[in-house]
Amino acid sequence: MSSFLHTKWQHLLRDSAETPESIAAALNLDAGKLQKVTDRYPARINPYYMNLVKKYGKPLFRQAVPCEEELEDLPWLFPDGLCEEKQSPVRGVFHRYPDRVILAVSSECALFCRHCMRKRDVGKKKFFDREAALAYLENHEEIKDVILSGGDPFMLSDDCLHELLSALRRIPHVETLRIHTRMPCTLPQRITPELVSMLRCHAPLFINTHFNHPYEITGESAFACGLLVDAGIPVGCQSVLLRGVNDNSQILKDLFRGLLRIRVKPYYLHHPDPVAGILPFRMDLAEGLGIYSKILGHISGMAVPPYMVDLPGGGGKTALSRNCFPEADANGWIRLKNFEEKQYFYPALARPLGPAILS
Ligand code: SF4
Repeated sequence: MSSFLHTKWQHLLRDSAETPESIAAALNLDAGKLQKVTDRYPARINPYYMNLVKKYGKPLFRQAVPCEEELEDLPWLFPDGLCEEKQSPVRGVFHRYPDRVILAVSSECALFCRHCMRKRDVGKKKFFDREAALAYLENHEEIKDVILSGGDPFMLSDDCLHELLSALRRIPHVETLRIHTRMPCTLPQRITPELVSMLRCHAPLFINTHFNHPYEITGESAFACGLLVDAGIPVGCQSVLLRGVNDNSQILKDLFRGLLRIRVKPYYLHHPDPVAGILPFRMDLAEGLGIYSKILGHISGMAVPPYMVDLPGGGGKTALSRNCFPEADANGWIRLKNFEEKQYFYPALARPLGPAILS
């Protein structure tokens, strides 16, 4: 384990590199080139993750360090390409599926991932309307499952989280709580015994974290996940298939086996979402499906998550299968059905040649 195991997470966060100059100095880069990107999409690399970037290079560097390709825009890829804001009845509440909602409780994170699907918001001081969100939940009895997301909910203090979780637990029809956090991977020191003993009071509570490369599975991250699992909190992992990071079936096999070893269940493998700012990470869907197909049957089914796309326009997530891949139109879009059997267009090419052809 690195020397960071016993460092307080608040100190690691405080010492993060956030300016182009500090990132450039740490990694011997050109601050001017970084500045162009951070003017639009903020950066933050905490010392724990910076140490991994220096040790392991490209796959972690690409997830953490701004690159100019993020600024490349295509007119048919939008900052909110999944239309979360249209499905937001109250600030910070995203209600897409019938029985569950997302609460975006923080716009801060311990690392601003360059591939983030919410990079329109992270690091930009977007505020969650707590009282209006709770009132909305109280008035919607169909909601059974509440997901705290963001940003990263573990950027809130233990007291603040406890208060929010307690308020959610007072709503009789809310059955399960979930927390989506990248902290077990990006700042595992945040998973303290105090945090875990507070969380276990709110069972049934599930955590979904986010690892993308086996190099991220360290002694510290294994310890953090072990604390959660030992407290009876199930931990799953949502990974993203990223060009230049993990676009290789052997890396994915090592990642998913490594997650099981630290008692984290691979939950989803996402194709990078069609939103502005993440073009550096997108690949053609056929290529992604080809990589995914090579892990099926080669490792335990326990280790294989479904391969998911999130449909532009707010259709929601749908799973892809190698045996069912529709033909693309001339601009590179395919039609996929969502959970309501409605059809949506999805860009099967990393860089579609134009908008979907509607006929
Ligand atoms: S931690 Fe999650 S919300 Fe934050 S930047 Fe990374 S992917 Fe986005």
